[in-house]
Amino acid sequence: MSKKILILAGDGIGPEIVAEAIKVLNCLRDDFGLAIDMQEALVGGAAYDAEGHPLPESTLDAAKAADAVLLGAVGGAKWEPLDISVRPEKGLLGLRAGLGLFANLRPAILYPQLADASTLKPEVVSGLDILIVRELTGGIYFGQPRGVETLESGERKGINTLTYTESEIERICRVAFDLAGKRGKRVCSVDKANVLECTELWREVAIRVGADYPDCELSHMYVDNAAMQLVRAPKQFDVMVTTNMFGDILSDCAAQLTGSIGMLPSASLNADGQGMYEPIHGSAPDIAGKGVANPLATILSVAMMLRYSLNEAGHADRIEQAVSAVLDQGLRTADIASEGTTTVGTAAMGDAVVAALREV
Ligand code: NAD
Repeated sequence: MSKKILILAGDGIGPEIVAEAIKVLNCLRDDFGLAIDMQEALVGGAAYDAEGHPLPESTLDAAKAADAVLLGAVGGAKWEPLDISVRPEKGLLGLRAGLGLFANLRPAILYPQLADASTLKPEVVSGLDILIVRELTGGIYFGQPRGVETLESGERKGINTLTYTESEIERICRVAFDLAGKRGKRVCSVDKANVLECTELWREVAIRVGADYPDCELSHMYVDNAAMQLVRAPKQFDVMVTTNMFGDILSDCAAQLTGSIGMLPSASLNADGQGMYEPIHGSAPDIAGKGVANPLATILSVAMMLRYSLNEAGHADRIEQAVSAVLDQGLRTADIASEGTTTVGTAAMGDAVVAALREV
């Protein structure tokens, strides 16, 4: 039976980069027999303009009915003056909440061909392959009470609350161990257990879950040290698992190790393996419409989709090999160009990946 993919191009460069990912999916369907049905819908600013809301009910319903969602990016200056409840980013948060996407997977992989693109020394980052597993629907971003209140003195007080239940910690730790078992078999749980009781519980639960995975090694690190170690010696890590806020910060730090935001995919999964896949970058309004955006993060997001939600690891490998082959050919979009490489636009890069797919 065909698997259903919902495509949400979004705003800014979203439609440009998603168009290249669709070329790749069409090629896998037409030339390699991948059984998929693709449907498109509106999200973000584009949805607000058309329907007055960044996440129309019809889009959320289509997302729930799909096996996987491919998202471009949302947002842009045009929608910034809007009330926060209808800003494009609300569409994203609504999808995460509506689909129960509690596990955010962010690989930071440095293709050897791009070792010069990192601001770190090539020997520190060359061959980097780490996976950050961030809890996405709990923690301080959602905890109650929250808000800003005025005290009797007239001074205002801002409040946010960090909460995690044992079951929330357990399910994200299980995702991390399951994934580590398929790669380097090492999990580093990042917390601040020396100061925050909530993450003391996090550590306790991580240890309990780890006992079910005797083939995986579990270590613990305080988040401040983890930030330092990520830039000092990032290759020491295999899988890192952490809270929503710590993961938000550490995954951006890890992304920068690889030098280009245009190369990094991500996945957000729910308990049924249904997922939303998107590049980690935003809608890049500064380059939208110019045909220069790097589509590889979106194309690599399709590879993650095939691996994690559609159970098609062979096709995922094929895409990753095709991307590597294109880099070997010296083709680069402007964001990853360096001396001696050939700069190409968004569509030419997508075409090159499709051509390489037919050869791998
Ligand atoms: P951004 O990631 O859009 O852009 C940061 C810089 O990286 C820009 O210079 C941009 O040109 C460049 N860049 C990003 N993607 C690129 C690509 N594929 N190829 C080449 N260069 C690329 O971040 P920003 O400028 O802070 O945000 C712009 C808008 O995107 C805002 O409205 C923000 O809210 C939104 N945003 C959306 C998402 C999402 O949809 N998941 C994530 C982050 C930001």
